[in-house]
Amino acid sequence: MKLLVVEDEVKAAAYLRKGLTEEGYQVEVAHSGVDGLHMASVNEYDLVILDWMLPGVDGMAVLSALRHMRSVPVLMLTARGQIEDRVRGLQGGADDYLVKPFAFSELVARIQVLLRRSSGPRMEAEALSLRVADLEVDTVRRRATRAGRRLELTPKEFSLLILLLQRQGHVLSRTEIAAQVWDMNFDSETNVVEVAIRRLRSKLDQPFDKPLLHTVRGMGYVLEDRP
Ligand code: CA
Repeated sequence: MKLLVVEDEVKAAAYLRKGLTEEGYQVEVAHSGVDGLHMASVNEYDLVILDWMLPGVDGMAVLSALRHMRSVPVLMLTARGQIEDRVRGLQGGADDYLVKPFAFSELVARIQVLLRRSSGPRMEAEALSLRVADLEVDTVRRRATRAGRRLELTPKEFSLLILLLQRQGHVLSRTEIAAQVWDMNFDSETNVVEVAIRRLRSKLDQPFDKPLLHTVRGMGYVLEDRP
């Protein structure tokens, strides 16, 4: 899931990026309304977190321009708690509204609700459950089980597992995994992907008879049910 954060305050934006990345989201940040609109026009996002108070083109203007462009859900952040502002934001097409300062856990909960709602009933049913052999992953509840046993995964391990499951049977390179799961390009010296794969494997495969996550030497990793 890819999120765009439009927030001019550098510290606040960095905090959101860090926290949401740890929750397993891919996060991109724009520090102005103009940049935010540009990024939203060239990239596809699953959700936009939009600060109301932005210099130049403010949040309301960004929202209205965005509404002419895309149907992406928008969560507005604002220091204003005035009821008329809230109404204006929602009438302007915001899907939800959070008043600063807010608890990070509340932001995450609202994001989950919006993403679930926007994925729609069809997508939800489709994406709800991914499976291979006796492994089952509920993408909405973010829960993975194998042979009926719950796997305790970190958000990153969960994202990695989803990626592998969505592309099951296809070999994914380390570079591709790094780009998809960490949203960055790692140089070849970094072993962050290997470490994550090892951890995932220790939970996913080690306690069970049959391995599902395979290393393809020199190429990458593949999740599949091999005979
Ligand atoms: Ca601001």
